[in-house]
Amino acid sequence: AKADGRGTFRFFEPHMDVQLQARRALEVDLRKAAANGEFELFYQPQININLNEISGYEALLRWHHPERGLVPPAEFIPVIEDTGLIVTLGEWILDQSCKEAAKWPRNIHVAVNLSPVQFRNRGLVQSVSRALVASGLAPNRLELEITESVLLQDNEATVSMLHQLRRLGVRIAMDDFGTGYSSLSYLRSFPFDKIKIDQSFVREMSQRSDCLAIVQSVANLGSSLGMPTVAEGVETEEQLRQIQAAGCTDAQGYYFGRPRPARELVHTLEALRQT
Ligand code: C2E
Ligand code: CA
Ligand code: CA
Ligand code: CA
Repeated sequence: AKADGRGTFRFFEPHMDVQLQARRALEVDLRKAAANGEFELFYQPQININLNEISGYEALLRWHHPERGLVPPAEFIPVIEDTGLIVTLGEWILDQSCKEAAKWPRNIHVAVNLSPVQFRNRGLVQSVSRALVASGLAPNRLELEITESVLLQDNEATVSMLHQLRRLGVRIAMDDFGTGYSSLSYLRSFPFDKIKIDQSFVREMSQRSDCLAIVQSVANLGSSLGMPTVAEGVETEEQLRQIQAAGCTDAQGYYFGRPRPARELVHTLEALRQT
């Protein structure tokens, strides 16, 4: 055991490798984070590119670590999924984002990411329903983003939960489309309301004709299935022009705005109210 300098002990065996130690430390810190109020949701605008206006915001989790500062979600989300912390944190994310969105103009939605682990928990549908009731947010203003990995644990229970969520009146978006193994079959097993084209395709579109072809095909697919298609990771005007020409309906990316704390959205939203 080794003192960590604050009078507590962390039980690191000398042979434990550095990575494992770091991982344990992360777990310990994450268990305290929620109670200490270290989590915050940032919001990134989603733009309807035909009307050129904000249609909604995606809620993105941020962790303000007391010593390390802002820790990127890619680093800690896998850990909160493994430890099961995602279930209670996921409820907080739903509550918080619905409460926030209830203050926005009525035509603006909020998109919330759901982890596959949350679908293994029977209480998910009820948590969503509770968040809607508690906030007073109209269900059609809540969009749930799921990845193909949710459907990979492809059992009837998952599909049934998706249908129950749909019946609440919320929309379901397929996130990171194109990165999984058999995206097309998932579109058949569940009727999504929206497709989000993974940013890896958008990023390489201008150098690689195959990436551009994929973006165009997904936009066509969406249009023939009657599903809006969102291009993720749009950073330049050139990319915007390309996704527009490809027939995407919506866009999200640094070109339009980075994820920001809720309080910083106020100005943009006030401007929207006045138009
Ligand atoms: P995602 O759902 O695909 O979210 C989009 C990610 O792309 C976000 O990273 C966002 O900040 C980033 N991004 C947006 N526009 C651009 C751009 O123009 N260029 C580049 N390079 N990046 C852009 P972030 O916030 O680091 O989140 C990473 C992932 O962590 C998310 O990917 C999502 O899978 C997960 N995540 C974030 N928040 C939550 C949450 O509340 N719940 C769950 N279950 N997962 C979350
Ligand atoms: Ca997402
Ligand atoms: Ca995504
Ligand atoms: Ca992603």
